[in-house]
Amino acid sequence: MDPARAQPARPALSGGRQASGRLGGRIRGWLPEGRSLPETTWRRRHTMIVRFALLQAVAIGAYGLVQRFPLADCAGETLLVVVPALLALLEQASRRLRTISATVSLMFACAVAVDFARGVTEAHFLFFVMIGVVALYQDWTAFIVCLGIVVVHHAVLGSIDPSAVYAGANERAHPIEWALIHGAFVLAACVAHLVAWKANEQQELSDPLTRLANRVAFTEELDRALQAGPEPVSVIFVDLDDFKQVNDSAGHRIGDEILVAAARRMLGAVRDTDLVARLGGDEFAVVVPADADEALTVAERLLDSLTAPVLVGGRHHLIRASVGVADSLLAGSRRADDLVRDADLAMYGAKSAGKDRVAVYRAGVDQQVRNRATLAVDIQQALQRGELELYYQPVVRGASGSLVGAEALLRWHHPVQGLVSPDLFIPLAEETGAIHAIGAWVLSQGIGQLASWQATLPSGPDLSLAVNVSPVQLDREELVANVDAPLRATGLDPSRLTLEVTESVLVGDLDRARLQLAALRQLGCKVAIDDFGTGYSSLAYLSSLPVDTIKIDRSFIAGLTLRAGPSVLVQAVVDMARALHLNVVAEGVEDQEQQAVLNHLCCPLSQGYLYSPPVDAATFARLAARWPEPAGPRPFGGLVGLAADLP
Ligand code: C2E
Ligand code: CA
Ligand code: CA
Repeated sequence: MDPARAQPARPALSGGRQASGRLGGRIRGWLPEGRSLPETTWRRRHTMIVRFALLQAVAIGAYGLVQRFPLADCAGETLLVVVPALLALLEQASRRLRTISATVSLMFACAVAVDFARGVTEAHFLFFVMIGVVALYQDWTAFIVCLGIVVVHHAVLGSIDPSAVYAGANERAHPIEWALIHGAFVLAACVAHLVAWKANEQQELSDPLTRLANRVAFTEELDRALQAGPEPVSVIFVDLDDFKQVNDSAGHRIGDEILVAAARRMLGAVRDTDLVARLGGDEFAVVVPADADEALTVAERLLDSLTAPVLVGGRHHLIRASVGVADSLLAGSRRADDLVRDADLAMYGAKSAGKDRVAVYRAGVDQQVRNRATLAVDIQQALQRGELELYYQPVVRGASGSLVGAEALLRWHHPVQGLVSPDLFIPLAEETGAIHAIGAWVLSQGIGQLASWQATLPSGPDLSLAVNVSPVQLDREELVANVDAPLRATGLDPSRLTLEVTESVLVGDLDRARLQLAALRQLGCKVAIDDFGTGYSSLAYLSSLPVDTIKIDRSFIAGLTLRAGPSVLVQAVVDMARALHLNVVAEGVEDQEQQAVLNHLCCPLSQGYLYSPPVDAATFARLAARWPEPAGPRPFGGLVGLAADLP
């Protein structure tokens, strides 16, 4: 068996696989992994070595003649060196056999040279030169052959004809001991080469920035795991979300440090048997020797490990990632390429489902990814083609049920796919940059609409509008002008406009976000933090951002029941908001019970299906026109039925 292949799975290269505390494990950790050379490299080296061996054979024959050895002896010994070199040329023979033949030729040449030099010590140096040459094979067998030939040659020939091997009287008297001593030096030389080999492997196999395994090491480990047996093997594919944005706004040095931090977190989240690698850029992958269920647990832990912000360059940054999982069972293949492709597809699935999540590969996900690619192209023309429309969802005062305004929510009527969810196309518009034009349109359309309602609806003058602004828009100077222009054109009171940003504005350059939000408030607009509680929301950020309103994410509202009592989180947010003089909107209020709890908690504003889903402008106008007059505090809401009337 190939001793190289007999090596157990990778030791501590990644750190993900700690060398076991036991001595055996530690020694194995020190040894090269015995990665065999790629075929082309091996061939190049082998051809060079064999040519050298043949030349050396001729040179040694000539040396014998110079040393006045009989022609027949010279020819015989030359033949001894030439024959294995010629065998090494045999294409039919295995790589291993050819390596051994070439090594034998080189070693025989040394032995003959020592013989022709009548055992002088300096002639032995040639052995060490040849060990250096065979080290090029990166093959354990070559070293074993060297050691074997030196010890056997010195012991056997040294006993039969000591003067042919040794120059000194002591050596000649104790040929076996000296054979072992020479063998020990050869062994030491081999060890020195092994250390160099190991060091080179680490250089070739690890990513210089994160010190994780690189793509080559990843592929080899995956191949090895897949070939090891019938057990399922999984791949976790990790792609950091919005990393380009971080790199562009914070700079590459900060970007690099964030990658290193992410790598460290991921290493801490995997098990000893998993291998974490950086495939390049902001892409990472993990080999998990288990099925997708187990890999999913690892993937979720990995995603969790990234949650807390990292402190880099004196500033906190949020790391988010989209993660895909595939195993050899789901892929129906034990080919590394198939597995990586499926995990990559699953990762795309996670991205298109809104990022910052794990998705497991399912058949058909390929189609989804193709759809997404098509949509990414189409979204860039959606605006010119008039396929976009704004819907409006009422925002009400929870206690009285009075209408205070609306949130503008974008809809895309795709000519083939029908209505596409903003959760799907907004990320695409962000990636393609189409969000800038679309965002500007949403602002002018929404502001224009509110101005027209204010002029025409009885309740119009009291209405406000909230418009969503993507973090990508916040990166551009033009945002302020895009808000200002329609405000001026319509003469709308800027305080009637709220711009909603999610916590992901904190992912990029916090200072820049703060400046932009401050500039928007300078215009007189309000700013809301959307989806509060889903990201890494901290009081520190909140108090440092110029914010007027907090929108509690609907996931927290969903759990509110009278029986369970008030949610600690919702209670805390409402109390905190009051202390900071902020407004609060509860999102996703679906039933009266939730509204009752919110009333109990004194949460001022609500939005959700209980009142109305988002509707088109005409429907909203009709709804607003017959919105019930504000009543006194109603513990159970009171507008049920209104939404049911809707088209
Ligand atoms: P969001 O800003 O959190 O908007 C609220 C989402 O919750 C809307 O989804 C709304 O339809 C939904 N919703 C409202 N009430 C309920 C309820 O009672 N139950 C449930 N289950 N859901 C409710 P929608 O319209 O699909 O929008 C999704 C997201 O797309 C928005 O989340 C927002 O982040 C983004 N988005 C929408 N329009 C725009 C836009 O014009 N610009 C930007 N940048 N993003 C937008
Ligand atoms: Ca929103
Ligand atoms: Ca929201």
